[in-house]
Amino acid sequence: MNLNRTDLYDVIIIGGSYSGLSAALALGRARRSVLVIDANEPCNARVPHSHNLLSHDGVPPHVLRSMARADVAKYPTVQFYDGRAEELGGTNGSFAVRTAEGLTHRGRKLLLALGVRDELPPINGLAECWGISAAACPFCHGYEVRDQRLVVIGNTPETVHYAMLIHNWSDRVTVCTNGPSEQDVEQLSALRRKGITVVETPISEVLHDQGQVKGLAFADGSRQEVDTLFLRSTTTVPEAITALLGVELTELGLLKVDHMQHTNVAGVFASGDCTTPMRSLTTAMATGTLAGASITHALMNT
Ligand SMILES: Cc1cc2nc3c(=O)[nH]c(=O)nc-3n(C[C@H](O)[C@H](O)[C@H](O)COP(=O)(O)OP(=O)(O)OC[C@H]3O[C@@H](n4cnc5c(N)ncnc54)[C@H](O)[C@@H]3O)c2cc1C
Repeated sequence: MNLNRTDLYDVIIIGGSYSGLSAALALGRARRSVLVIDANEPCNARVPHSHNLLSHDGVPPHVLRSMARADVAKYPTVQFYDGRAEELGGTNGSFAVRTAEGLTHRGRKLLLALGVRDELPPINGLAECWGISAAACPFCHGYEVRDQRLVVIGNTPETVHYAMLIHNWSDRVTVCTNGPSEQDVEQLSALRRKGITVVETPISEVLHDQGQVKGLAFADGSRQEVDTLFLRSTTTVPEAITALLGVELTELGLLKVDHMQHTNVAGVFASGDCTTPMRSLTTAMATGTLAGASITHALMNT
């Protein structure tokens, strides 16, 4: 679709995945003019099947996204721009968004539904397994690997709690701290009581076949067979873009929003993973829908 660069959209949504599209659906149905700018790099792109989504449990994420986009595309006031937003500017009532191709679009309100980037520990082979046989959320991916040999990689104060949680799905859980354990004695004995083994030897490589983990190779030459890895990634919001507007961050480094998904900057809203550590499709969609309604209310008064 050709976009008229001089248009002033009611809303520009940056990030057209689960959260951004949910907002676009609400706004399209409210007959608002919307431009959805999306670089098409959702965090779950490599996941074969998504779970824990009522009525669509087990559906591949790319199928969910194309169904979602088809839902939104039915509303004539919503337009799409496939590409990256690189610069933001302006103020409430007149924001400007410059894309990587150098086009500038203008909107009265902005919604940031950018998601987050996952950073993994620098272990050979791990990135290739992420999303396929290395997961973060046991509620999303635990059931399919129940009773299997699960390895939790981590060495933070939260690792013990996380490993205990993973134990809900299998009693064959090992924690690999990838170096000397930083857990205290009480924590280690809590793990032992559950039958969870702790391996401190540094990991030299994740052995896998096209992303399906087969085992771990350790620095001392030993190996361990593994069916699935669980680990918490370090998440970052694509800050370069939000900093331009002066959006405040939470202590977790996420975009700070109020109960109606409004940031501290007048006219700038945010939703989805970039606003909450409770990452899930339902949360992304719910906060997107709320943002859509909230923006519609805000537009009523202008
Ligand atoms: C490996 C993995 C597996 C998961 N499995 C499940 C599961 O089974 N069930 C479940 O409920 N949840 C699962 N999740 C969580 C779920 O995928 C996320 O909560 C959800 O994708 C968040 O949606 P979002 O729209 O906020 O962000 P994303 O889906 O990450 O989308 C963000 C979008 O914004 C775009 N974007 C960012 N910056 C720009 C920019 N500057 N310009 C243009 N576009 C931009 C990106 O390209 C992307 O398309 C999983 C997550 C991961 C990482």
